[in-house]
Amino acid sequence: MAWFRKDKSGLAQQEKKNIPEGLWTKCKSCGEVVYGKKMEELLWVCPNCDYHFRIASQRYIELLLDDGKLEEYDINLTSKDPLKFKDSKKYPDRIKAAQLKTGKKEGVIAGISSINDIRVSFAIMNFEFIGGSMGSVVGEKIARAIERAIEMELPLIIISCSGGARMQEGILSLMQMAKTSALLAVLAEKKIPYISILTNPTTAGVMASYASLGDVIIAEPKALLGFAGPRVIQQTIGQDLPEGFQSTEFFLEKGFVDKIVNRKDLRSTVTSLLRFMWSN
Ligand SMILES: [Zn+2]
Repeated sequence: MAWFRKDKSGLAQQEKKNIPEGLWTKCKSCGEVVYGKKMEELLWVCPNCDYHFRIASQRYIELLLDDGKLEEYDINLTSKDPLKFKDSKKYPDRIKAAQLKTGKKEGVIAGISSINDIRVSFAIMNFEFIGGSMGSVVGEKIARAIERAIEMELPLIIISCSGGARMQEGILSLMQMAKTSALLAVLAEKKIPYISILTNPTTAGVMASYASLGDVIIAEPKALLGFAGPRVIQQTIGQDLPEGFQSTEFFLEKGFVDKIVNRKDLRSTVTSLLRFMWSN
């Protein structure tokens, strides 16, 4: 039956081609077309299939933190170009373009805030900044967020959204995995809770380090989660991959994710978890 449905949705998509952009938004997962303002109300979650559109880091700050306020730290840390890396663009030019696009110096925003009056050390990755890739500054800012949690005895919340390590910084970017993981081990020893929130996509080096080390790991529905891309894995192991592989739902089934949380319930869920794990 699958071919029949696919054919139908293809037709539906063709009919909707002439809708002016901006006013209406088409769901990337099911093709449903929703009025843009309605989507804003729905926090950019498809009313038909629950697909969570990617939203700006600032929106998560407004959704999750008290009064949408964050006392930001390490605002001016910027990446160097240790390898003098150049692909289609020079690395410093790529950084400058990302800075212009996002108005931020790097791909993660970190600081101190509170969630329903519980003070937290908070960090959120910005996918708009070179695919949310983790270079030495992203790693350092995450590391400092963990250190603040340790020193100030505050629960840690990290919202991840990343394509992985930043290849333009080579080994320096890979080292961030060890650095952040080691600090999280110290945080665990101090029995300070860490809630890791996975959004679409959370993959590769970020998934293989701090994103997967939460005491509780929650994820948005239908997010792409994983390490290497499915094609690479398929070629390496020479086997077909199971259906739904690398989705939030698959990860929950296999015990890797503890809870799937709809965006509208994010704040209440994190609050309940903090109240359960942390009394201060
Ligand atoms: Zn949909």
